[in-house]
Amino acid sequence: MNKQDIPELFRRLREQWPDPRPTLVFQNNFELLCAVLLSAQTTDTAVNRVTPELFEKAPDPERMQLLDTAEIERIISSLGLYRNKARHLKELSRVLVTRFNGEVPESEADLTALPGVGIKTARVVRNIAFGAGTVAVDTHIFRVNSRLGLVSGKTPEAVSSALPAVIPPEFIHDAHHWLIYLGRHICRARNPLCRECPVRDLCRFEFGEDSRAGKPANPGKRAGSAGPRRKAGKSGDQRKS
Ligand code: SF4
Repeated sequence: MNKQDIPELFRRLREQWPDPRPTLVFQNNFELLCAVLLSAQTTDTAVNRVTPELFEKAPDPERMQLLDTAEIERIISSLGLYRNKARHLKELSRVLVTRFNGEVPESEADLTALPGVGIKTARVVRNIAFGAGTVAVDTHIFRVNSRLGLVSGKTPEAVSSALPAVIPPEFIHDAHHWLIYLGRHICRARNPLCRECPVRDLCRFEFGEDSRAGKPANPGKRAGSAGPRRKAGKSGDQRKS
């Protein structure tokens, strides 16, 4: 999309979702860090089902590090990769206590040095806990960015690093939430609801006028693809982003 359209894109997303909030439930920075770590390769809803019991027993790193790994595993066993996640929760809690006086650090370098914490987790935590202008890129944002053509990037990390430079400062803090909302609710992986999309005229993809509920007008032309098609006249290099 044209770079001059980006402010208008975020104005409309703000209008659509004026008060974006994280879906994960937490009471403090430590719980946020744990919840984001637990959300890897699972849904926020699934995480919210297990964290009430976990955080009741261990609302801070001092108590988390004292829990048996087997007990953490039992509580979070409904989540994918729960054994690794249980080990990471216990280990990162020990590091927080010994190196950071029990506090969640703010810098990306310190966060990513914690067991089990990658760049995406660190950027979510920095954005929500510390108000940093970071955009953590998950599968939704990666897809939406590619369709809108905001920035080029072959990996989520590359897109995550490039996005803050093109988003106006007044939108940067909530941009992460708005792009996730757009991807979750409208610009879905299959059958995106382009006809209901608030930024359709800014997007370089579109569906035919005969499309219904996001289904392509002439599926035969795009057999095997449920996604939108690229508008004519846009450069191909953006498509690869
Ligand atoms: S117009 Fe369609 S492809 Fe473009 S952002 Fe909206 S839902 Fe996604």
